[in-house]
This record gives sequence, C-alpha cells and structure tokens, in this order.
Amino acid sequence: MKLAIASLLVGSAAAFAPSAPVGVRSSALNMAETATEPAKTYAKLPASIKPGVVTGQALVDLLDDAKARGYAIPGVNIVGTNSINACMEAAMKYGGPIMVTFSKGGGQFIAGKAVSNENDQASIAGTIAGAKHVHEVAKLYGVPVVVHTDHCQKAWLPWIDGLLAASEEHFAKTGEPLFSSHMLDLSEEPLEENIAICKSYLEKFAKVGILLEFELGVTGGEEDGVDNSDVDSSRLYTQPEEVFYAYEQLSQVPGGAFTCAASFGNVHGVYAPGNVDLQPIILYNSQKYIQEKIGSADDKPMKFVFHGGSGSSVEDIQYAIGAGVIKMNIDTDTQWAFWDGLRAYEAKYHDYLQGQIGNPEGPEKPNKKYYDPRMSLRAGEEAMAARLIKAAEDLKCVNVLN
Ligand SMILES: [Zn+2]
Repeated sequence: MKLAIASLLVGSAAAFAPSAPVGVRSSALNMAETATEPAKTYAKLPASIKPGVVTGQALVDLLDDAKARGYAIPGVNIVGTNSINACMEAAMKYGGPIMVTFSKGGGQFIAGKAVSNENDQASIAGTIAGAKHVHEVAKLYGVPVVVHTDHCQKAWLPWIDGLLAASEEHFAKTGEPLFSSHMLDLSEEPLEENIAICKSYLEKFAKVGILLEFELGVTGGEEDGVDNSDVDSSRLYTQPEEVFYAYEQLSQVPGGAFTCAASFGNVHGVYAPGNVDLQPIILYNSQKYIQEKIGSADDKPMKFVFHGGSGSSVEDIQYAIGAGVIKMNIDTDTQWAFWDGLRAYEAKYHDYLQGQIGNPEGPEKPNKKYYDPRMSLRAGEEAMAARLIKAAEDLKCVNVLN
C-alpha cells in the first residue's frame, strides 16, 4: 500500500512539472529507446530472460535481479521427470523462476540403478538425459528455468567433465550450454587448492556461458551419501577473508560468473530445533569486507547461495536474503512432501489398492484406475509442488515475473 501511494505521488509530481517542451522531447527519446530495446517477455525482469532454460548473460541478469529486488530462487534436488515437472509446475503457479538441481546420485538414478556407474558413466548419462528433458519441456511451463548440478567433490570431477563436454557440444550447435551452472564443492581441500581448481574450471565454463557455484567452509549434516555430521564445528563458519580471497581470484577469469555457498552454520537435513546455530551475519560481514577491499559502491558484491535451508526459520531465511542470498537449496523438505503425497494417496484409496480386482464397491470391481502408477506419482508431484509454493513464499519469489 505504501508503495502504491509513493508511486502515485511520483506520478503526480511529474505531471505537474512545468516543462512541457522538455517533456515532449523526452517522450520522443523514450519512444526511440523502446524501439531499439529487445522486447520484454516478463514485465518485471530484464529483457534477456525468456521462458525455458536460462544460461549465460540471461542467468547473470536473473541473479542480479534477485539480489537487487530481494528474493531468492528455490534450487530443488530432483530424481526424475516427476520431481523435475513438479518443480516447473510449482514455478508456473507461484510466478517465479526455479532451479532444477541434479545431484550425482540423482543423475545416476535417472540412468537407472541397474546399470554400472563405472567411471561415473551412469551419473553422466542420466544427468544429461534429465537436462535434455528440461530443455524440451521447460518452455511449455512459461517460466525461466535454471539447469544446475549440486555438490561435486574432488573425486567426482570426472562427472562434471562429462557434463561439460555435453555443454560444449550443445554450445557448438545452439550457442548455449546444456547446463546453466555447476557447483564445485572443494571445501574438503585447503582454501588455495579449492579456489585454484574452481578457477581452472571457471575458465572452461566461461567459454560456453556456464556459471560456477563454489563452496567455502562445510555444510554440515548428510546428503546424497556425503556425511559431514562429525565435522569440526569451526569449519561450519566461513571467514570474510576467505570469501574475499575467492572473490578476488575468480574475478580474474574473463567473462566468469560465480556464486558462493559460504557456510554459516547451515546443515543438510532437518533436525530438532536447537541443533542448528545459523549465523547469517557472516554473509553481511563478508559483503562489507569485500566492498571495503574493492572500494565498490555495491554493498552486496557477492551473490550467495544457501545450502541446508530445510527446517530453517523464515526469519533466518529472509535475513540471509537481505545479505545477498539469491538461491536456497531445497531437498529434504520436498523429499518428504513427495513421499507424503504418495502416503496420503495410499491411505485414501487403501481398500482399492489391495488387489487388481475387488474393492468396497463389489468383489468383481476392477482397480486399474487406482493402481495406474500415474495416479500415485501424480499425488507425489502435487504434494511436492504445493510444498515448493510455500518455499517460494518464504523466499519472496512469488509473482516476481509479471
Ligand atoms: Zn548442499
């Protein structure tokens, strides 16, 4: 309401400005400007951002917009077309962008658990297959979709090498990479080695318009087979000096774009209240430190991402967004939501799901329409999409397109 009044006041002040000739000239100029500017698809977003997969400069524009307007994009772990589509369905309903996130294990699951994953072949093939699915259908949902990959530790780099080769091939044909961004998580390594490896990958990424997400410190807890629940607690809190070192090093890569997963006590998974001590002030302190070091007018020079957001309070989430968080990862909460949808479906139709024939309506009644896998899987999709709409509300990502 306050905003509406403010813009009315601005509007009327302009209307009463005693400068008719100037006004005429500036409106002619405005017309010339609009004639040369590319057409906007979304009223509230830069013109570079179109429905479908967003990469390169359009992705940088999208993340800058999130930082400037104070919202964060849900980055959601998926394991197949059901969860991928639930992400895009949610984004269509909440009116914002979405990041579809493939873990190495999620990619392998898409290829199929029966095949060998020697040399990460199943993880590579499945992640590529999932990304191609997104490329084919994302436009139908009418929303910007970021195709992203999750944690990749040093031993898993061959997975990223395989995906990068696919992006290079895609880039040669279309001028765009297959993947919008990759996370490299070298936080197990010493800082200098972490950033040196990230820098060498960013040099390759920049050539085909892929953004890098890197990790400083350690996200606690357990996810996708990586268990950090016993890590020394000091490593859960990143120092501003470390963030600046990474910023300075990665800024040297021509055309390189990056975001930072700096740990501030965040933990993968959902734990009982009192077990997680978030210190998002670390993000503010890091921004201030970088701003002073580089003498920037921008008080948020770094774009941060928030891992281990499941179970965090809305207050902590929104405080972190104020410090330049432009994406929050969501996995545990949507895993539960998908399962809860299946569980509720089975509970509702239990007596129709105990055999192919015979239910409370009669011993010869067929049950095909209840056990068709699409029925229970759709219930999972709907529950997951509904949970993501709630997440988008917490992240202030609702109705940010138009
Ligand atoms: Zn994570």
